Amino acid sequence: MPPTNYRNLRVVPRLIFGRGSVSQLGQLLTSQRTDAGSPVVFLIDDVHEEKPWVRQLPVHANDLIIFVSVRTEPKTQYVDELAERVRGFSNRRPDAIVGIGGGSTMDLAKAVAVMLTNPGSAADYQGWDLVKYPAIYKVGVPTLAGTGAEVSRTAVLTGPVRKLGINSDYTPFDQIVLDPDLLESAPADQRFYTAMDCYIHGAEALHGTFINEFARAHAEKSMDLCREVFLGDLPRREADEKLMIASYFGGLSIAYSQVGVCHALSYGLSFVLGTRHGIGNCIVFNHLDDYYPAEVAEFRRMMERHQISLPEGLTRGLDDAGFETMIRVALSLDPLWENALGPRWREHMTPERIRALYERM
Ligand code: NAD
Ligand code: ZN
Repeated sequence: MPPTNYRNLRVVPRLIFGRGSVSQLGQLLTSQRTDAGSPVVFLIDDVHEEKPWVRQLPVHANDLIIFVSVRTEPKTQYVDELAERVRGFSNRRPDAIVGIGGGSTMDLAKAVAVMLTNPGSAADYQGWDLVKYPAIYKVGVPTLAGTGAEVSRTAVLTGPVRKLGINSDYTPFDQIVLDPDLLESAPADQRFYTAMDCYIHGAEALHGTFINEFARAHAEKSMDLCREVFLGDLPRREADEKLMIASYFGGLSIAYSQVGVCHALSYGLSFVLGTRHGIGNCIVFNHLDDYYPAEVAEFRRMMERHQISLPEGLTRGLDDAGFETMIRVALSLDPLWENALGPRWREHMTPERIRALYERM
């Protein structure tokens, strides 16, 4: 038999899905608590600080709650600071880390859980399979749907030189709780941008050269759910249930394939201008008719239907050094380009072509 090299995908082993399921968190954590001295650490997006459900979380006397700021997307330095704070809180290792929030908060929780058992800075682990030791047991509870961060094997971070995830088998959550009620408070525009991240995951997976039946099946279902939500007339509650599953399926799809042109360019925008992932992807995707024509057209219909307008002229006034950094960051994402354009992608995607695309945004 010829040798093969298929990916042995590590997925999240346990999942609860359903309205109000966040109330089962206490039960889940009970089985992880070792003794009264070891804390459970809750990292919660500070946008939720005053929410009634936060007061009902199963927090014990020795536990630590940190309301994290995601005003900017997660930085390696912030992960290091949070890990230091957890270490300073107790000389015992936490029994669990619980991340509650959008993709940024979930990535912070994943990264902090990794950094509590691995030496050095989070920046040392940006890349593929650099993590040496298993992380602390971790639970993810999304409050936005679309990134797929709840299921992926990466924690995307901006470091001193690059925006790149900690991609490893130790990164995924051990447990996720998908409670669509938690999406209720999401502002309409943010909900749309994050959901479009999911739609774009599907489009980039399906058009990519890495596509296979596993990734295709998940991408197709995920995109269908997005269509039902943004082109149909579903009540908000039903729509949120569908969005949560769309995000999960989209995450699984790219976990066994890869994203493409939009994500590579969006990472460059984000690194230089701080543009957030969801809206950044929307801005870029809107200029990618040459690569994903049918999906870009459908995306515009969804935007129109939901009266979403995107900022323009983002790169106006950017100097050459800024463009060069943006191009460098985008071009460094080899697997994304190879998926999108094949192994000879460099012949097509030259720095000049990327600059021309950026200049239109
Ligand atoms: P986010 O987590 O950055 O949050 C965006 C905004 O929405 C923030 O202001 C946040 O406070 C707010 N918010 C979150 N939930 C809310 C709620 N229920 N009600 C009201 N406000 C709420 O947004 P996101 O789009 O979910 O995540 C983007 C991040 O995810 C980026 O950092 C990106 O790099 C990362 N990402 C990770 C993966 C992965 O596989 N790990 C994949 C894609 C993107
Ligand atoms: Zn994405």
